[in-house]
Amino acid sequence: MQLSGRVRNVRPSGVRKIFDLAAKVKNPVNLSIGEPDFDIPDEIKEEGIKWIRAGFNKYTPSGGIPELREKVFCYLKGKGIICDDVIITAGATGGLLLSFLVTLDPGDEVIIPDPYFVLYEYQLILLGARPVYVDTYPDFSLKEEKLRKALTNKTKAILINSPNNPTGRVYSRQELEMVVAVARERNLLIFSDDIYDRFIFEDSLRNNYLGQLYENTLTIGGFSKTWAMTGWRVGFVAGSKEIIQTMITNQQYVLSSVNSIAQKAALFALDCNTDELISSYKKRRDLIYEGLKDKYEVVQPKGAYYIFPRVPGDDGDAFVERALENNLFVIPGSVFSARKSNIRISFASNEENVLKGIEILRSMA
Ligand code: PMP
Repeated sequence: MQLSGRVRNVRPSGVRKIFDLAAKVKNPVNLSIGEPDFDIPDEIKEEGIKWIRAGFNKYTPSGGIPELREKVFCYLKGKGIICDDVIITAGATGGLLLSFLVTLDPGDEVIIPDPYFVLYEYQLILLGARPVYVDTYPDFSLKEEKLRKALTNKTKAILINSPNNPTGRVYSRQELEMVVAVARERNLLIFSDDIYDRFIFEDSLRNNYLGQLYENTLTIGGFSKTWAMTGWRVGFVAGSKEIIQTMITNQQYVLSSVNSIAQKAALFALDCNTDELISSYKKRRDLIYEGLKDKYEVVQPKGAYYIFPRVPGDDGDAFVERALENNLFVIPGSVFSARKSNIRISFASNEENVLKGIEILRSMA
């Protein structure tokens, strides 16, 4: 065996199997996608091209270009996030990994509400840390009793993702305050994955961030969702000086630095408002929720672009295979959860596709 022990428990995510199956279907109605369906606004593309031509093609500082760090810092301060410093990372993915790398020792436990974004699990396993899941079914809300039950003397942190992938749940101020109260009692870290923070469909749920409430928070964000820059790989983490500086030191050894041109484009993107593009998702949210609610047990998503209904028979894996036979491509809930009763449907697709998807799902219930 030439592979390290570290990677032996890291397996391709369950998504791969379903992608292999889907590859055999010709032009399925694809509601599996985890990225915005709009393209990067033209002026951001032009900005990137401008900096390539201007010769901005060399290594950049390990923490990111100073002007972008400063701008992200001001952007987060404007939202009331408590932080002393910011690092630019290779997407939120890179930010999460570095956050875990510099704060968690092997054996440390991180509490994560289930369902959860699959990447957390494997990044933690890779580092020898242990995800501890707290079941949030059926309404996906955070409950104090369950959270407390998951605490052990190994608990080091709580990870919260709001708006949530895959449920679309946006936690209320009270839920966030409850999490902070628990964390504060034990001096736990909070990882707050805020990547979908602009994708919120109800005004009353906006502008609630764990980073506003607790100084021991690492706020993780990026440019992949709000500006659709998934392929440019730019994200950031904000937190205490000590943690961010340690992340910068380690980023130097792991990645050297983040893509130079993409950072310039991201700097420009922070002044581009994409709210109008994002607001069109509310209509699709309404279409799919209204289209499913009398046939499926389903919670109305308040954010992101996913809906996570329970399927008849509670076997999401089998349901997804059956959906593919009906020309619809969605993701089984078991990819994101210890339970397999649900499926994840992405409405980051055009209205026509969403309508076709609803029709197929209605015929299958
Ligand atoms: N967190 C969540 C909850 C996500 O859904 C995603 C992307 N699917 C990421 C992080 C990673 O984003 P990035 O492209 O910035 O690495």
